[in-house]
Amino acid sequence: MVKQVIPKSLDEALDYLYDGYYQVIGGGTDLMVQKRSTAETPPHFTNNLLYAFNLDELKFVRNSEHCLHIGSMTSLETLLHHDETPSMLREVILEMASPAIRNVATLSGNIANASPAGDSLVPLYLLDAQIVLLSKNQFRHIPIEKLIVGPRKTVIRNDEIIKDIAIPKLEFTKYKWTKVGGRLADAISKVSFLGAVHIENDQVLDLRIAFGAVYKTVIRNREIEKIFRNMSVQELKNRKDEIISHYELCILPIDDQRSNKEYRKKVALNMLSDFIMNL
Ligand SMILES: Cc1cc2nc3c(=O)[nH]c(=O)nc-3n(C[C@H](O)[C@H](O)[C@H](O)COP(=O)(O)OP(=O)(O)OC[C@H]3O[C@@H](n4cnc5c(N)ncnc54)[C@H](O)[C@@H]3O)c2cc1C
Repeated sequence: MVKQVIPKSLDEALDYLYDGYYQVIGGGTDLMVQKRSTAETPPHFTNNLLYAFNLDELKFVRNSEHCLHIGSMTSLETLLHHDETPSMLREVILEMASPAIRNVATLSGNIANASPAGDSLVPLYLLDAQIVLLSKNQFRHIPIEKLIVGPRKTVIRNDEIIKDIAIPKLEFTKYKWTKVGGRLADAISKVSFLGAVHIENDQVLDLRIAFGAVYKTVIRNREIEKIFRNMSVQELKNRKDEIISHYELCILPIDDQRSNKEYRKKVALNMLSDFIMNL
């Protein structure tokens, strides 16, 4: 029979997780849907569940010298209204789900669920977020792109819990987030795009591009970004077709119930083109 526990402290949670027989549940907004029963009966869980959403120790937004640390059980709605939340992350969260869902959904759930269409993953990849994992005997800091290894696949072990998400403090002079869904709110992305630049004296010092829902994981390619840094804005615009041809090779979407691969690829490349031409 499936066991369910509601630990009162993080230490108690780590004790339960130690043998690897419990699955963490945060807000449950992914898990409850994935395990729903078609017969209007309770969700059909096969793993023991550890409810973490009550752990106040994991509800925080804190600054260190170089990073913002977001406790894993901080709700998306709290982050949406928090002054310290990076503005691009706030913009993305505003388009995630609805207020009712955001009141319980968490960034850590979006990360561990590892859907290529997980919206918050796009800014977290772009901002070089590190995921802090905790088990009874170990702390691990893992860059998000190493943590997520495929659709719904991560390197999080059964005895670990995401403790917090560390987001480096970066400055951009301009960024653009675009999400295409079936409707304006409460919709899973068909395709999403986030571009950011830091421009000083007309020089593009930093250029970062991330796409959601057009590959097995979020796409961020540092090699391509490097080629197009340290040039003037006009030169970057002149080389737009070259940039697009690089990303054309990385964007390999799938057909599913939300969209088809031709549409996804075309829209993703159009969003990239618009971003560059509007710098
Ligand atoms: C109506 C609706 C609309 C939605 N709209 C969007 C949307 O617009 N964009 C979007 O990206 N998503 C959307 N979602 C999906 C979902 O709300 C998000 O992915 C959310 O961030 C999941 O967070 P959670 O805390 O509810 O995760 P949960 O369901 O609790 O968990 C999801 C996964 O993460 C694991 N997990 C959770 N917390 C931890 C932790 N601390 N440590 C280790 N593992 C952990 C769980 O074991 C599970 O595998 C929507 C869902 C619904 C129901």
